[in-house]
Amino acid sequence: PRRRTRFAPHGVPPVGPDAGTGRTPADRPGSPAGFRNAADTDPAVAEHRAWAARLVGPDSGYVPVQAPEVADVATIDTAVARAVEVGRAWAAVAPGDRARVLRDAARRIEARRGDLVAAAVHEAGKTVAEADPEITEAVDFANYYAAAAEALDSIDGADFRPDGVTLVTPPWNFPVAIPVGGVLAALAAGSAVLAKPAPPTPRCYELVVEPVRDALAAAAASLGLADDVARDVVQYLRVPDGDLGRHLVTHPDVARVVLTGSIETAEMFARWRPERPVLAETSGKNALIVTPSADLDLAVSDVVRSAFGHAGQKCSAASLVILVGSVGDPTTTTGERFRRQLVDAVRSLAVGPSTSLSTVMGPLTEPATGKLHRALTALEPGESWLVAPRRLDDVAVDAGLDPDRLWTPGLRDGVAPGSFFHLTEVFGPVLGIMRADTLDQAIDLANQVSFGLTGGIHSLDADEVATWLDTVEVGNAYVNRHITGAIVQRQSFGGWKGSAVGPGAKAGGPNYVAQLGAWADSADVP
Ligand code: GLU
Repeated sequence: PRRRTRFAPHGVPPVGPDAGTGRTPADRPGSPAGFRNAADTDPAVAEHRAWAARLVGPDSGYVPVQAPEVADVATIDTAVARAVEVGRAWAAVAPGDRARVLRDAARRIEARRGDLVAAAVHEAGKTVAEADPEITEAVDFANYYAAAAEALDSIDGADFRPDGVTLVTPPWNFPVAIPVGGVLAALAAGSAVLAKPAPPTPRCYELVVEPVRDALAAAAASLGLADDVARDVVQYLRVPDGDLGRHLVTHPDVARVVLTGSIETAEMFARWRPERPVLAETSGKNALIVTPSADLDLAVSDVVRSAFGHAGQKCSAASLVILVGSVGDPTTTTGERFRRQLVDAVRSLAVGPSTSLSTVMGPLTEPATGKLHRALTALEPGESWLVAPRRLDDVAVDAGLDPDRLWTPGLRDGVAPGSFFHLTEVFGPVLGIMRADTLDQAIDLANQVSFGLTGGIHSLDADEVATWLDTVEVGNAYVNRHITGAIVQRQSFGGWKGSAVGPGAKAGGPNYVAQLGAWADSADVP
């Protein structure tokens, strides 16, 4: 039979939300005549967008941090002494009861989702699309560590003794999920917590601590604790870096430090506290390998997502893509196609302030200096820009941002083995391309870096994947997937080599809570 084609005049769709209404898409509020994405007709998308627009707009309710900066040593000493005192009471609470508080904290954090997203957008420069899932990750951490607390209850014959006062110092790049993970893991173990924010994101941490303290206070009566004792099991201390920060980190009554930050900071903390535990998740220089057997469309999209999510400011971000054989040779069909798609994808990333909903890649959290500035502006011998980064001065000024915070993404070709860009973490929106004749050579290039946090391979060849998994030196190895965004419990997160200081179980995985204390026979407990 002949195919019958129905003719619909322009602007009058025969199906869809305007069908039968006599309206055209252009009649809908906010709908210019022109291209409309199919998602625009989905009411759930419209609702989410309205929610997001409120969060980033002038009525978002975002307020800067409320607590003053700690100005003297005495304030720190008082807080530490209080933590020691209330910590005894908290350690005596049964693990199952601690778990109940953590689950309540999870619900309260979820209830503050909008405020937390707004704070992450304003302080860290995350887009709503990046900040929103971070709240989900935070809630997952809370519930996961609640279950871990319950597991502490179940070993006979030995009591779990928490480390004691624990300082949790998270980074600014995951200003909600990482603080929640650190604080609630220490609480699960039975320790009192001192919460020190990273200087760029104090409000995010304050908004994390508030619901946790509320959950503690709400449980106080049932735990037999005074309200203020329960609340002070977590204290928020806005201690500036420098001498005051050092006083806190080296304080004799701070039993344990949990840090997520740069390798430099972690090594400094470890030097400052040579005899006492520091648990640190630090830097990465992560590579994604693409072999000729890969699904190239998927590879391009995962490379771009891994390299430029939150403008590359993740310790898990892909900083190198290592192309094997024909993928790296633009004179072949495969290589030409991969290069063209990658360049197009990088160029298509819409850069702007995080308060604009059309921004895909937002600003840097802090102005680009040092290694990052060098990576954005200078090439080494043999290197060239496939896409050169640009500073968007006009857009930045319009948005009230320091121009050194707003850069378009860079794609750096011809990175040589042993060079600055091959081996140095830069923590920003620059991706370097390296080439290898064989998979073994590619793995060797990936393993030459001193860090070992995340890595990925795109290959549809099972033998290649097996070889890579056997030999790649990373904590989180991802196959045919982007290499950021570890999922609590499913992909516990942490590295080896230079990506960790102090032996440690991975965040969001087994034994993370149990390492924040020790088992002792009841007879040993004083
Ligand atoms: N957990 C995050 C991820 O898997 C990275 C955390 C970090 O950058 O510190 O992407």
